[in-house]
Amino acid sequence: MLGGPTHRFECSRAGCREAAVWAIEWRNPKIHAEDRRKTWLACAEHREVLEEFLAARSFPLEVKSVKDLDD
Ligand SMILES: [Zn+2]
Repeated sequence: MLGGPTHRFECSRAGCREAAVWAIEWRNPKIHAEDRRKTWLACAEHREVLEEFLAARSFPLEVKSVKDLDD
């Protein structure tokens, strides 16, 4: 974001500008093809909120450390 703090990975939660430590890869089976993945980034505080949002919709998800996105 312009003028904001710049982290390499920023939390995807609306209004949160914290550095992300988790990457949640998920898919909506109704609209996404089998090999599609969306990635949400989450700070330590918001991982649970984002994960529960997806779990409540029964979307398949996988949580990784952002360090695993570095390669
Ligand atoms: Zn956050």
